[in-house]
Parts: sequence; structure tokens; C-alpha cells
Amino acid sequence: MGGRLRLAEGAPRDDLGTVFACILAVFAVLLLCAMPANAAEPLSARDFRIAGDETKTRIVIDFSAEPDLRWLLLRGPHRLVIELPETRFALDPSLLRAHGLIRTIDHGRAGEGARIVIATKGPFVVDRAEVVPNGPGEGARLSLDLVAAGDAAFEAALAEQALTTAATVNPDKSGRVPSNGGAAEERFTIVIDPGHGGDDGGARGIGGSVEKDVTLAFAQQLAGALRSAGRYDVRLTRESDVFLRLDERVRIARQLDADLFISVHADTIRYKNIRGATVYTVSDTASDAEAQALADRENLSDRLAGIEIPDENHEVADILVDLIRRETHAFSVSFARTLVGELGETVGLINNPHRFARFRVLKAPDVPSVLVELGYLSNEKDEAQLLDPEWRTRAVGSITSAISQFAASRAAGR
Ligand code: ZN
Repeated sequence: MGGRLRLAEGAPRDDLGTVFACILAVFAVLLLCAMPANAAEPLSARDFRIAGDETKTRIVIDFSAEPDLRWLLLRGPHRLVIELPETRFALDPSLLRAHGLIRTIDHGRAGEGARIVIATKGPFVVDRAEVVPNGPGEGARLSLDLVAAGDAAFEAALAEQALTTAATVNPDKSGRVPSNGGAAEERFTIVIDPGHGGDDGGARGIGGSVEKDVTLAFAQQLAGALRSAGRYDVRLTRESDVFLRLDERVRIARQLDADLFISVHADTIRYKNIRGATVYTVSDTASDAEAQALADRENLSDRLAGIEIPDENHEVADILVDLIRRETHAFSVSFARTLVGELGETVGLINNPHRFARFRVLKAPDVPSVLVELGYLSNEKDEAQLLDPEWRTRAVGSITSAISQFAASRAAGR
């Protein structure tokens, strides 16, 4: 390049027009060289893929060349914004649909460049973001993993972003004070999940009771008792007879930063004489064949929604996530044991009452989670108990007591 410039400088002085033309041409060449290979055409977004569920959603966008981009978070509503240079969007609109955590996807011009705005169902964090070349001449793809998270995590990411890109990121008018402003008293948040609902009735008792109704009534009574204790924030994943996918239940727990998640069930079993309560925790290997069969049945709830979600193995690529998962699991097991001890005092338990299997609804990596089978609707006596207000009050008392011990031990450990 420098050589050409000297050539231009060495041109006859009386031909200034030619000199300027040469210099301009050189600048044009320099400019082209500084840009990506396909800069003659603007960047084009060619494909958009979205996968995963409400706890973790992956977005992959294919570009004609490696894009020079950045992403940032916005709140009110929660959004991820991808800022791009001038981009031609050759995307099939039907691909830009709500899926998993994603509520809406919009794109368009923004000043000199372009933008993709992704609105989510509540707070999230970007777990991974990378641009990967597709191969020589094949462009590149942006791959983003969004994970449901509580407001505290979202605000922390927002605060970090404000520090790194202070000048450009502050378009929201809601103020920058985190919603849970640090000094506030730490509350213990419990999410109670009444199993099944809507089209997913769950098990049907021999006396005709339906699991989804039994679980909702029990969950409401438990929530009432916990609220009256005045020490907890208590939320139900559903307050009425509606269908909820399993990943939606997990998302709710994660976005509320729950300290404990209890999924309430009352299933049936082949052996009609088997009765009593069971407490389940999650595990890749089941404690026994019955636990495995139950988890398989419970996991079918998602299929009712007409969606197939690959049952991905725990990703242990991230050591920190793995550590959190292990710690959470230890807390789940500790609570399950306390709960078994309490329930054993007041209501009947089955043999080996703490069991484990791969329940999708218990998979939040950072929320201690258990699934309680209150009893079996396939057993006449259990069914009668589940509908008996006095029995329910005793069971609620046991669970409340176990929660109180667990919350106290967590508070002491902080
Ligand atoms: Zn169930």
C-alpha cells in the first residue's frame, strides 16, 4: 500500500487532479482491506434457530460473514439486544417465534447499523455467547445460551454491563436501584408446585378423585400455613386448574430465587396395598425400579404439551455450575431427610421413604428441590386420608416443621 502512495506522491505537480484521484483510489482500497471479506455487500443474517426449554434456551443466528457485534441487557421488560453493523435480514419470519424463555424476537435498522431485540419471560442471564466460524467462505454463527435466573442475578449482570459500557447502556427509565436493594431483610422463599393441572389430570383415584385437584388443595393449605408463620415468601406455581409444563415450573422457582421447591403429588401404583408418603430427590440413577417408573410417568407431562425436549445430560463443562449443582443437591437431600423424619411422626410412610430418580421438575441447578408423594390414590385408605381435612392438617404441620428446620439451618450457614 505504502508503495502506491509514494507513486502517487511522485506524480507531476502540474497534474494535481490525477494525484487526488490516485490518493482517493488508494484510500478506497485501504478502506476495503480494513473491512471483512464480504464488505462489498452488507452483512446478512441468513438463519435463525431456537431450541431448549423455559429454563435454558439456545439461540443460533447464521451470518454471511463474521459479525462485529455486541449484546446488552435491558429491563422493563427483560430483553437481550444484539447490536450489529448494517445487516440484511433474510430470515423466515416463522422462525422468529416464541419458544422456551423467549417471548418475542424483533429486528430492524438502528441508526447506521441493525438490531435484534429478544424479549424474554422474566429475568435471565446469558450463560454463554460466542461467534463461531462456519468454515472457509461459509460465514459464521452467533450462539447464545439464555438461562432463567432471579432478579438479583439479572440486576447483577445489568450492573456489570453498566460498568463496562456505561456510556451506551442506560435507556431504561426505571432507575438503577436493584429491586432487592441489598440491605433488605433476607426472606426465605418457598415455591410449592401442585402437580399436574388442566389437560394433565395426573393419576385418578379408585374412589374417583383426580390428582391435579388433590395436589392443588393440599398446596393451597400448605401455602396458607406457611404464610401465617409470617417468615416466608410463599408462591404456588399454579393457583388454579391450568396446565403448566415442567420446565415452566422450574423457571418460576429459579426466577423467584427460591430457597426451596416442593412439588406435591399423589400418584397411583400397580400394587393396591402399597400406601404411605414418599419424598423424592433428583438423581441420574434411580433408587429403584418403581421410582424410575414414577419419574418416567411424571416426565410425560411435558409430552402432553406436544413438545419434545431432548432429555439432555447434565452439562458438567462448567465447573462452577457443577459445584453449585452438587451443593444444591446436598441441600435437597438434607431437606428430604428432615422431611421424612417429620412425616414419619405424623403420617404413614412407605418403605425406604427417601427415594430418587430423574425427575425433570427437580432439575433446577440452584434451587433445593424435592417431590413429595403424599400417598397413593390407588390405595383406598390413602385416598380417604388425602381428602380428610384432619390428616391434611397433620401432614401440612409436618412439612411446615421440616421447612422451619431447613430454613434455620440455611440461615445459620450464611
Ligand atoms: Zn403426579
